[in-house]
Parts: sequence; C-alpha cells; structure tokens
Amino acid sequence: MRLPITLLACAAILAPPTFAKEPEKLPGSRVLPTPVKAEPPKEPRRELTEAEVAAMVKQRLEAMRRARAARAAAEAKAAENQPKAKRSDTWSYEGDNGPQKWGKINPAWAKCDSGHRQAPIDIRDGIKVDLEPVQFEYGASGFNIINNGHTVQVNVAPGNRFTLTGRTYELQQFHFHRPAEEKVDGRGFDMVAHLVHKDEEGRLAVIAVLIESGEQHPGIQTVWNNLPLEKYEPLVPVIQFDPSMMLPERREYYTFMGSLTTPPCDEGVLWIVMKEPIKASKQQLDIFARLYPMNARPVQALSGRLIKESN
Ligand SMILES: [Zn+2]
Repeated sequence: MRLPITLLACAAILAPPTFAKEPEKLPGSRVLPTPVKAEPPKEPRRELTEAEVAAMVKQRLEAMRRARAARAAAEAKAAENQPKAKRSDTWSYEGDNGPQKWGKINPAWAKCDSGHRQAPIDIRDGIKVDLEPVQFEYGASGFNIINNGHTVQVNVAPGNRFTLTGRTYELQQFHFHRPAEEKVDGRGFDMVAHLVHKDEEGRLAVIAVLIESGEQHPGIQTVWNNLPLEKYEPLVPVIQFDPSMMLPERREYYTFMGSLTTPPCDEGVLWIVMKEPIKASKQQLDIFARLYPMNARPVQALSGRLIKESN
C-alpha cells in the first residue's frame, strides 16, 4: 500500500521545476478573427543579470540533486522489498551467518547478541494466574503467500485483530518455523505458526501456535496448496482465508515480553503462546521440511523475565 504513495512523491520531485507559468490560451481562440488593433510595442529583451543566472543554475542543480536522491531512495526501497541471497546483510540458521553471528553481521542487529529480552525461550516456571482471554476478531480475508528465503509467510488483508488489556493489535502476517522455536518445560514441538500483529503505535504482538503431528489441518493445507513456485514472488490466491483456522480450540496461553526471533531481533514484542497445540499431518509437516528443514533460532536466556500462564 505504501509503494504507490512513494512513487507519487518521487514523481513530484522528479518533475522539472517550473519557473514561470505560461499564459493560458483561451479555448477556440484560433478561430477568432485577427484583431485590427495594432499590437502593443514589445518590450526590448532584457539580458539576465549574473545573479539571476546563478539563481537559475542553483535551482536546476538542486532539482537534479533531489531527483538523484529520490532515485537512490526508490532503488534502496526496491532492494529492501526483494531480498537477494547475495546481500551483505544475509543471515541464515546455520553456518557462517547462523544465529551466533547475527549480532555481528550488521550493527543494526546488535540486539541479537546484547539483548536481555530475546525470543524464543524455553517456557517454564510461569506464574499461574487468571489471564484475561484474548478477544480474537478474525474472519475470511484476502491473502497472499510468499517464500521469503527464511520461511513461508502468509500476508493477510487488514481487518483481523485481537484485543487484550485494552489494546488492539492487527494481524499483519503469519509464518512457520520447523521445529517450533519455543520450548515448553524443555519439550520441543514439530513446528510453530507465528501470527504477527501490530497496534496503532507500532507495538508488536505475536500469537504463537504450536503444531504437532496428528490429523490433517485444513488451514495449513490451504497454505500449502498455494505455495509459490519461486522464492520472493508472492502468489495471490483467488480464494479467501480465515486466520481463525490457525487457532486451537482452547485459548489458554503463556505470555512474556520478548523480541523478534530473526534479525534485527528488536525487543518490546508481546508474546502470547497458546498452550494447546494444533495438529498437522505427517505429510503436511514433511512438505514444509522439504523447503525449510531447520529454520528455528535456538532458545535464549530468560534473564529474570516474568512468564504468566492461564490457570
Ligand atoms: Zn517467527
């Protein structure tokens, strides 16, 4: 949605500067008879002063500089939207650019190393309290699916949200990890779906839904049915998708503060991990494994964080 506005802004900058307005011609003026009146004597053409020429040159240079800056910004934006495997900020889950190196690959990702509120975590010793239920307002929505080089991500049209403690967060996208990044009392799970939400002030909240082997899952099947053939090229299905299909029946949860589990590892993310896992068939789990056999960040230190869980 932001791209067209950027392009418009760029177009405005790229337009040549207007120095003076040409007088408008009257429509149909060409058919008017030539006036008999003699033309007023023309003013002798005035030479431009040195200062005026300098001002015009300066104005023109300034316009060129702005156009160049706009082009560079547009190119940077395009590069950001289409991550290439060879970009210097490449990160991965194994090898030289693996999780142990994330904080050093790019200074903007230092939090991956130095943060004390990092995710995922091994969820244990939560305090059992009466947690307010998460009020979901999910419904059938337009969506597209992208293989972004790190996971399969489903971008969801606006209008799906949840409310908790008076704050409303809107669903942006959901994606998958294999195995699940979170652990519960040291126990791992086959996969996890992360439903990423944002509130009006830009605060992030992630609903994590653990996935274990069992019967076939219709929601996951819809996503797999529409997997794009090429990386970075989103597939836009003509059908709609109801994200509530991704939620378990029971809505008890664990909650704690954490971070993004991928670079830049920004903190201040509210995590809500549903206690009841959903199920997916072995065949469904295997399909994801063929694309991403391992795309999970290891668990991070709790560093004295409080974990709350539904009674
Ligand atoms: Zn995730």
